[in-house]
Amino acid sequence: MDTSDIKEIKELLKTPKNIIIVPHKNPDGDAIGSTLALHHYLTILGHTSCVMAPNEYPSFLKWIPGEKTILKYDADKEQASSKIKEADIIFTLDFNHLSRSGDMGAVLTQATAMFIMIDHHQQPDDYATYTYSDTSMSSTCQMVYHFIEKLNDLEKISPEIATCLYIGIMTDTGSFRFRSTTSITHTVIADLIDKGADNTAIHEKIYDTNTYSRLQLQGVALKNLKVIPEYKTAYITLSQKELDSHNFKKGDTEGFVNIGLSLKGVIFAAIFIENRGEKIIKISLRSKGDFSVNEFSRNHFEGGGHHNASGGKSNLSLEKTVEKFISILPTYKNVLN
Ligand code: 5GP
Ligand code: MN
Repeated sequence: MDTSDIKEIKELLKTPKNIIIVPHKNPDGDAIGSTLALHHYLTILGHTSCVMAPNEYPSFLKWIPGEKTILKYDADKEQASSKIKEADIIFTLDFNHLSRSGDMGAVLTQATAMFIMIDHHQQPDDYATYTYSDTSMSSTCQMVYHFIEKLNDLEKISPEIATCLYIGIMTDTGSFRFRSTTSITHTVIADLIDKGADNTAIHEKIYDTNTYSRLQLQGVALKNLKVIPEYKTAYITLSQKELDSHNFKKGDTEGFVNIGLSLKGVIFAAIFIENRGEKIIKISLRSKGDFSVNEFSRNHFEGGGHHNASGGKSNLSLEKTVEKFISILPTYKNVLN
């Protein structure tokens, strides 16, 4: 996105538009934070805007300013589809391939609206008229901040926008510790605090939301943790039965994959979570250093993401998926050893 793109977008946003903002399927803190922040900003500019998520998001996000206005595509596909048809502009945030919006992708492909992408994942697709892609960015929320900055509108950032943006930067950087966290990230965070983000309250509202059953489920995850020292790898499995017996709710397994990565000497961690409803094993992968889990999930598990954090899926059984995973490791022995 260069200066002439910004000029054109500024021109485009001079008159009221009908705008839809879309996060990826199974939206996380960065996806919900960035889309809602942009929604608040566009509303201040006088546009009619709404966030339309492909599906449900975790309950620890159900307090973010504006969250109650989010439409869910899978709750009423017909109404959602006609809204998509009426849109002038569709922003897609925190993903870069329409398939990442699940079956909403087919409807988006048919839309006549102009697309604007803001995203920090690797290998972006080229469906958008304006693509703001930067894989070095900590989060899409940081990019929305820079987007507003490029439009010369930082003074329009309200406490609500600041709160939304803070959440996504915090969750995508593991609370400001991952490699993507730069001095500029901290400068942005400082400004967001100055503009009304209550950092301590946000941390508490996002992270101190454990239920007893989630902690028990974490106990099961810890029990199932396996380590393969020769490949500096750790992995966790959770079966549908284990989820069911712990009153599993969306978001309950968030962060579990990092348990493996916290082991001394481990540089590659995985979690395999059975989803009988979707007939898949959902996979989350994390790494430290040079080993690219983006490439790993792209090559073996129909996924993608970032260099050190990615996800994918498998249509095999839980056991067979783990077998496949273990059988692949020797291919990477040079990087993993
Ligand atoms: P998580 O493991 O937290 O679900 O996702 C880690 C990162 O990988 C996120 O940036 C997420 O967007 C991405 N990701 C997760 N699952 C998939 C997937 O199935 N396909 C692709 N392309 N990216 C994924
Ligand atoms: Mn993100």
